[in-house]
Amino acid sequence: MSQEKSTSSSQNPLPIHRLHQSLINRIAAGEIIHRPASALKELLENCLDARATSIKITVKDGGMKLLQIQDNGCGIRRSDLPILAERFTTSKISSFSDLSRITTYGFRGEALASISHVARLSVVTKTRSEAHAWKACYLDSVLVPSKPGQTPDPKPCAGVDGTIITIEDMFYNTPIRLSALRSPSEEYAKVLDVVTKYAVHNPAISFLCKKAGSPSPEISTSPASDILQAIRSLYGHAIAKELLRVDVTSEQSKDGIDDPERWSAEAYCTNANFQAKKMVFLLFINHRLVESSPLRRAIESVYSGFLPKGAFPFVYLSIEMDPRSVDVNVHPTKREVLFLNEEAIVERISDAIQQNVVGQSQSRVFEYQTATKTMMDLQKAHPLVGLKAILTTVDSLLLVQKTLSQHKVRTSLQDRTLESMLPVNDPSRSDDSSGRAVRLKDIKESQCSLTSIAELRQSVVKNVHHDLTEIIRNHVFVGIVDNIRCLSLIQHSTKLYLINHATLAEEMFYQLALMQFGNYRRLRLDPHPPLRTLVELAVNTESGTERSGLQKSEIVDRIARTLVDRREMLSEYFALDISESGDVLTLPHLLKEYTPDLNKLPTFLMRLGPQVDWKSERECFESFMRELAYFYSPASGVWSGDGAGQEKSAAWQTEHILFHALRRFFIAPRSLLDNDVVQVANLPDLYRVFERC
Ligand code: ADP
Ligand code: MG
Repeated sequence: MSQEKSTSSSQNPLPIHRLHQSLINRIAAGEIIHRPASALKELLENCLDARATSIKITVKDGGMKLLQIQDNGCGIRRSDLPILAERFTTSKISSFSDLSRITTYGFRGEALASISHVARLSVVTKTRSEAHAWKACYLDSVLVPSKPGQTPDPKPCAGVDGTIITIEDMFYNTPIRLSALRSPSEEYAKVLDVVTKYAVHNPAISFLCKKAGSPSPEISTSPASDILQAIRSLYGHAIAKELLRVDVTSEQSKDGIDDPERWSAEAYCTNANFQAKKMVFLLFINHRLVESSPLRRAIESVYSGFLPKGAFPFVYLSIEMDPRSVDVNVHPTKREVLFLNEEAIVERISDAIQQNVVGQSQSRVFEYQTATKTMMDLQKAHPLVGLKAILTTVDSLLLVQKTLSQHKVRTSLQDRTLESMLPVNDPSRSDDSSGRAVRLKDIKESQCSLTSIAELRQSVVKNVHHDLTEIIRNHVFVGIVDNIRCLSLIQHSTKLYLINHATLAEEMFYQLALMQFGNYRRLRLDPHPPLRTLVELAVNTESGTERSGLQKSEIVDRIARTLVDRREMLSEYFALDISESGDVLTLPHLLKEYTPDLNKLPTFLMRLGPQVDWKSERECFESFMRELAYFYSPASGVWSGDGAGQEKSAAWQTEHILFHALRRFFIAPRSLLDNDVVQVANLPDLYRVFERC
């Protein structure tokens, strides 16, 4: 603050000067070593690299006062001790090409150097070939005397094979880091967490972790036979008994063994019966404990489909891949890793976990199987099952077929749509600011004893295209692309589809008409328009009427008479009420929340004359409902063009009600695949394209 003030008031830039090297080192070290647990992680990895089979950790004050780690590994040669804590000294790589092939844990020779800049570091080590151990102390990368007045050289001392690294007074010289630490007990919890995770991953190694002076260790493992057993002893039986094992590998490649894209993963994850308050995620890539947000999120999203809100799984996941595919160049302790083909790997792994959880969790499997079975039964055994049943079935199937969020760019209806990005001042939107809150009323299938209707309902069921239905059911609306031609983009899973929403809506309205046959709500027209006038309007704009050899007025009369003559039937079956004097009183209301474009009413009534087959029952009903559906669909037909405002609110209805209704009520027939639904992109492919840009 004060510095800012002085610069701005004096206008003169402050002189630049080089920071003292020790300060630079300290800052750099602080970047690597954040807290006792991060130092411990580095040290543990060194022990594992040294092929230790027993690792003992002693901690005082959460590791701030003392962090000591003893292993029975290969030890460090006396001659290496002088440079042990220098930066970039390592026994693990010597050339740049090694860097891409390194399979050991740490590899940049930075851990011990960093520690020596922020704490007092001492080492006691003995190789198998030496008769005794050596003790060395370090400060700021170099050897220092263990007591004032002595030489800094390593001193011979008693000791067993292996290495003891002792870190004392962590951050004694960097008060800011020190003050950023939590309480000793919280730091200790983090230490225990790291040890526990490495102990799970290395079941053959015995780990011991305790507070200094305490007789009983918090962690003590005896070599376990496998990871499952290690999880059981470290995380408890409650978790272990709900674990599923999942193995996944990269797809077989053509060019054999040295394919850098090959990988394999082994996971133990809990089934849907288990719930934790926080996700417990142990991720090892090439045996290094790391973090990967994309993986974490993908797995979380898999489980969000099975677990109630606020409940999380336990997941252990170990991935091995060609070291060339892991971006090791991120900071050594920046635990977040990057790897090649991340998206594909994340997808395969989360899909595999999903399948396993779906397949094996007993409580849900029943539901899943019933749903699938009912679905098949619908078509085979009971062709008479109603439309409602198929909708319910699709719904319950979807319960278990959640899409994974990493497959989606748009993961919720709250995402922005194309339309919302245009500055539209829509009055219909202001009173419903969320815009998406429109809730659709349930629609009941009407009881109907007419065989014609039963047959028509059956044929909808027979023509269902399950995948397409699922796509529509579970899509995310992207935007209207072309209002006139009624083209919209929707997304499902990783794919984008261009659909003709008018055709889909028309088909849906036909289904809604069929479903509610004989039991429609009535949409009242007020004032009541005279039927004849409406028909006349339409006939007058219709070209080609001469071909019928009739005068326009004759045509109008015939159509009006046809309808008036059948008023009783129209009223009873279709809720189309026409008064004795020939006024249109009500129309069938197919979807309560949706109002059809009344500009299309004249055309609708006109078409009822010639287009409906009034002679046979089934054809009559079908053609009437098809006309009705066309009237309801947003296909513009005759845009009276009375202002952009109307067009906008039509678009609003389309987005907020029609697509919503499609999701909820639509049973997609196969015929739509011919023209009205086209897959335009697969997002992973798009990503690949963009990544290259
Ligand atoms: P890195 O592990 O990246 O090589 P470190 O600073 O962690 O760098 O360690 C430097 C070197 O010290 C290692 O390469 C290794 O040769 C040696 N070393 C460190 N800890 C141990 C240990 N516990 N046992 C044997 N050698 C060790
Ligand atoms: Mg190391």
